[in-house]
Amino acid sequence: MSRLSQAKLLDLNKAFDERTPEELLRWCRDTFGLRVAAISAMQKAGSVICHMLHRLKLDIPVVFVDTGVMYQETLDTRDQLAREYGLNIRTLTPRLTMTEQTAEFGVLYLSVEGQKQCCHMRKVEPLRAIAGEFDALIGSLRRAEGGKRGGCPIISVDPEMNAVRLNPLANMTDEQMDAYVSEHNVILNPLHAQGFTTIGCNRCTTPVLPNEPPRAGRWRHLGPWSMYCGINPTDMDDSTAPAVDLPQDLIDRILGQKTDFMI
Ligand code: SF4
Repeated sequence: MSRLSQAKLLDLNKAFDERTPEELLRWCRDTFGLRVAAISAMQKAGSVICHMLHRLKLDIPVVFVDTGVMYQETLDTRDQLAREYGLNIRTLTPRLTMTEQTAEFGVLYLSVEGQKQCCHMRKVEPLRAIAGEFDALIGSLRRAEGGKRGGCPIISVDPEMNAVRLNPLANMTDEQMDAYVSEHNVILNPLHAQGFTTIGCNRCTTPVLPNEPPRAGRWRHLGPWSMYCGINPTDMDDSTAPAVDLPQDLIDRILGQKTDFMI
């Protein structure tokens, strides 16, 4: 095993800025083989990734964290994507049901500190339970979302998962995403048509008004303090100088030293 640090990925990030999402997804499959998965919360951008995996026939599994308090529309979207795009979607669940968690810890999501604990137990821990199974995880963060995601890297490292994180849609604008959805008639979570710009747990997500920021519907009851759940490390402030341990030959392939990663 060798260390792959965030700093080593700077040049690759610059090169990837010129690549299309489809090229980046093919690069993932070629580089990581069977040890790559996509993570989707069954929102619009995740649906676009699912459609691309299907269209490109990449046979990359999709991981979905079901907190136990998702909207039924989200679960139905997961099932429809799996069925119609032929995807292998794996659902991860927390150790405790929400009822068990509330009995033990109280209603956590009603306070800023409690939200962090609840998101950690219901979103972050289920994902970390599969740490080591994949060397790369594909997400659907976009810089057009603004906030912490305004400068999100295309490729980064996630020390807790000991994996590389890739966001092939990082440079996709809202207009480009809507054009892709329209052109390919992508299956979408129906909540988007009901005013939800982003979609999470039913306890903590509401629709937004036309003049509100896109993430105004997340943790609305907590004010502007709790903007992210922590499942994406680049959303958080404490991801300084991280590195992961990967086989040297895989690091060589990622950095393009062993094979030409022309895509
Ligand atoms: S979004 Fe709300 S209910 Fe869902 S895990 Fe986070 S705090 Fe808990």
